[in-house]
Amino acid sequence: METIINPKNKYQKVIITKKTCIVCGKEKSANSFYDHYSSADGKANECKKCKILLDKEYYRVKKEEKDILLKQSISRPLTDKENQFIADFIAKRSSQ
Ligand SMILES: [Zn+2]
Repeated sequence: METIINPKNKYQKVIITKKTCIVCGKEKSANSFYDHYSSADGKANECKKCKILLDKEYYRVKKEEKDILLKQSISRPLTDKENQFIADFIAKRSSQ
């Protein structure tokens, strides 16, 4: 393979026309892959279609983690400081 620097993509050290996606295993044209700075061919290892699916899955997992953390933070017992704050709040309100 000839080494040519792509002026449109400075990270691309070799010009490729086709690449095999590591996720779906299908050979696709180079423009089916997003640009990626750390790979020799300047393209991501997974095709755009798979990347979108991976991102969706990533955010879904992240969202679930967030929901779990939120639930945990609500179901945990209140700290003394929080109990004090609530007691003060109620006392203040009832004195008005
Ligand atoms: Zn793919």
